Amino acid sequence: MSIPITRSTQPKPQPNPAQLGFGKYFTDHMFVMENDVEKGWLPGQIVPYAPITLDPAAMVLHYGQEVFEGLKAYRRPDGRAQLFRPQDNIKRFNRSCVRLSVPEIDQEYFLNAMKQLVITDIDWLPSQPEASLYIRPYLVASDPFLGVRRSERYIFIIILSPVGAYYPGGITPTKILIEGEDVRAASGGLGSVKAGANYAATLRAQTRASQKGFAQVMWLDSHERKYVEEVGTSNAFFVIDDKVVTPSLTDTILPGITRDSCIQLLRKWGLEVQERAVSIDEVWETHENGKLSECFATGTAAVVSPVGELFYRDKSIKIGNNEVGPVARRLYDALTDIQWGRKPDDMGWTITL
Ligand SMILES: *Cc1c(COP(=O)(O)O)cnc(C)c1O
Repeated sequence: MSIPITRSTQPKPQPNPAQLGFGKYFTDHMFVMENDVEKGWLPGQIVPYAPITLDPAAMVLHYGQEVFEGLKAYRRPDGRAQLFRPQDNIKRFNRSCVRLSVPEIDQEYFLNAMKQLVITDIDWLPSQPEASLYIRPYLVASDPFLGVRRSERYIFIIILSPVGAYYPGGITPTKILIEGEDVRAASGGLGSVKAGANYAATLRAQTRASQKGFAQVMWLDSHERKYVEEVGTSNAFFVIDDKVVTPSLTDTILPGITRDSCIQLLRKWGLEVQERAVSIDEVWETHENGKLSECFATGTAAVVSPVGELFYRDKSIKIGNNEVGPVARRLYDALTDIQWGRKPDDMGWTITL
């Protein structure tokens, strides 16, 4: 199944590999495919990266019918490219589509489009340590109509962005503010799917937190503001009494693929993992009696991000002496070794291109 390609006649200069950052640069090509209520998905194509044309009345601009995914292509030591669990991102994308009443995409076709796009722009895949090519598939409602209903037309796009090492100076713990007012997601809403609408609701709290010098906010449940949900756009983990504890997957928590990978590795190593509700009171109490040894967040961007300090109202606690704990360190090393192909992948998680 080969996808038609129109090659760019004006390739862009490549950015300085030392200054990639996250999500600032985009490659020379993109994948585009359109859907029409009568014809379904029309054949897609790879075209030069360029602005898209949307009618000013396009429904996504008014009612936010949009879903997206985020994953990475990695450069192996032998120079080849590989993807990490891409089928899981595709399945999650389709679950998001169902929740947003958007047409799903054939899994095999989706994977093939992603692979061919990465191969087309393979020169953009960085080779310096811990850098990668971020893949952003997304789908928007393009129907020009101002009534509130599901759209009858959609555009599906995949773009690529070379990204630098998340921790240029090595992995370091962050300061996190527990948000007691705004919530990320409420039960029955969109919290367990990757829909753009979720993130709009988080920006006020995130802005307040960063103005006060925090890296991210920790979200609490919408009902009682009592239970931990997520950290920024990552899943939350704690090490309490030598057991690894993470909030169970409810309809307000995004089922992270990094979260699942961590749970699988921990269980393989013989460590106990509990998926259950974790209250803020429990976090404070276990800190006081010396049983809380680690807190960290997991997601595609940072892989594992240790939390060194937690602030809530006017109280704060330091976790693990503000150092990277052994569980976070072991997970970070094991996952990045598999993702960048430095060690054999005995979990069957990677696809080499
Ligand atoms: C994407 C995302 C995550 C992490 O998912 P991964 O598949 O591990 O990248 C966690 N929480 C939220 C809210 C997210 O959007």
